[in-house]
Amino acid sequence: MTMESMINGYTELVGLMASPIRHSHSPAMQNEAFRRAGINCVQLAFDVDDTNLKEAVQAIRVLGLRGSNVSMPNKTLVGQYLDKLSHEAQLIGSVNTIVNDNGLLTGYCTDGIGFMSSLKNEGIDIKGKKITVVGAGGAATAIQIQAALDGVAEISIFNVKDQFFDAGKETVRKIQEHTACKAAIYDLADQDALRHEIADSCLLANATGLGMKPYEGITWLPDISYLRPDLIVTDTVYVPTMTKFLEMAREVGCRYLNGHGMMLFQGAASFQLWTGKKMDIEHMKQWLKRLEF
Ligand code: NAD
Repeated sequence: MTMESMINGYTELVGLMASPIRHSHSPAMQNEAFRRAGINCVQLAFDVDDTNLKEAVQAIRVLGLRGSNVSMPNKTLVGQYLDKLSHEAQLIGSVNTIVNDNGLLTGYCTDGIGFMSSLKNEGIDIKGKKITVVGAGGAATAIQIQAALDGVAEISIFNVKDQFFDAGKETVRKIQEHTACKAAIYDLADQDALRHEIADSCLLANATGLGMKPYEGITWLPDISYLRPDLIVTDTVYVPTMTKFLEMAREVGCRYLNGHGMMLFQGAASFQLWTGKKMDIEHMKQWLKRLEF
């Protein structure tokens, strides 16, 4: 069944509210997943920022949209206009998915869920273990909080001493207050601490933008001596698919994953929240390979 033949008077709508927005792969991905599942729903992208976010959320109620994805710059702002927040969205302080249940709008954050699911899909279990995550921005916070909620034993966070460092401190405080996970934050400039924390971690994650434009070919990892073959190395970046950081991991013989899995599984979690159905992951993996990233 083609998308065109599906659209009729019963077609449901989910949005994607962000600015800029036209570059996003989400509508193509969600629409293929709806088509594949035979669900009469479409996703459309709307250019929304902090100047019109409140009205856009009101439009979800008035027009009866099934929900929406939310991206920058709205992720940390939209919560105030919703009726309820999920536990992870409250702790992360960010919403990327809104579900409309008969006018009651609930905000969720599926970014960290996407990260954890992408590992599970690869047969990687980090529960009860220690991980090191570099970054304290949006993606990093989602990964760190979700990992702690899902039973990771210890998280060492590294960040440069920029405006995100305090956010990292706040993440440590929340993890300690609300979960059984141990957490600490370090200055990324402290290379001895970085080496020490990586040494007994099972996984090292890059959750900074280093590796993608305008930082292509750059990583914060000083050299490959920080890595070892049994370390799992992940990158949130997925354009390019191979970053300098992942190249170093490949050189050492580490198992490595780029940000494609996190992107796919955060979308799958949103899809399930809207439809109550699981996305056909194997089909979507093949479909995503055909997209030119
Ligand atoms: P953000 O702006 O919220 O955070 C940026 C982070 O990068 C901060 O921790 C900041 O301190 C760090 N940083 C910036 N410049 C740095 C430098 N020179 N050296 C070291 N650290 C530096 O961004 P975000 O939304 O968290 O996104 C981070 C990356 O994750 C981006 O590449 C984004 O595309 C990717 N991402 C991927 C997914 C996915 O599904 N795969 C989801 C969200 C974000």
